[in-house]
Amino acid sequence: MRIILLGPPGAGKGTQAKRIEERYEIPQLSTGDLLRDAAKRKTPLGTEAKAYMDEGRLVPDPLVVGLIVERMGLPDCASGFILDGFPRTVGQAESLEKELDRKKSPIAAVICLRVDREKLIERLVGRRICPKGHGEYHLRFRPPKIEGRCDVCQTELVQREDDQEDKIRTRMKAYETETAPLIEFYRDRGLLKPIEAGGTVDSTTQQIESALNAA
Ligand code: AMP
Repeated sequence: MRIILLGPPGAGKGTQAKRIEERYEIPQLSTGDLLRDAAKRKTPLGTEAKAYMDEGRLVPDPLVVGLIVERMGLPDCASGFILDGFPRTVGQAESLEKELDRKKSPIAAVICLRVDREKLIERLVGRRICPKGHGEYHLRFRPPKIEGRCDVCQTELVQREDDQEDKIRTRMKAYETETAPLIEFYRDRGLLKPIEAGGTVDSTTQQIESALNAA
């Protein structure tokens, strides 16, 4: 099963992708995570990408496409995957389509998460992460047991560089101008599954599972 998760920043793609990963036993491929990891390791690609990411701008297509195509070629992707945060431009979608046509392994469904703008901003502004990779918290919706500290390792939680308000605005704009056209792209191909994702995490997961079971 090959699935795409589409939606604006803050829609819950990462959270839902992890649930789908467990439920369907297919890996979550997050270009955001792959790029952050490359940036942390200071690879040439990571260093180049970081400058865009810190400002909330999209990383150029050739860098992202190369990274994801390499990842999709690993053995754990043989029976499927869930793409989280890719594609984000029509150019990326076309490259992906070409690659999957070549491998005769088409996309089964494109899950498109929809959330009101104010709610998206509230989710992103309050997001805090464990710098050691123990997951995400939210000041209001998922506070840690001890204020400002990770539940697992007690390290001080941090805000993602691109979760500051001015960066969030840039990311939203990039979504509206560059990524939203993918909704039509996949609707034309009969793959689009629109989901109302403004409610609880569980209610969104339920809708996604129904859509995937019907795909
Ligand atoms: P995310 O973790 O999905 O919110 O992505 C964080 C940042 O990584 C984005 O704001 C972009 O700068 C970059 N990024 C992630 N995925 C892509 C992509 N498919 N195309 C271009 N840039 C991306």
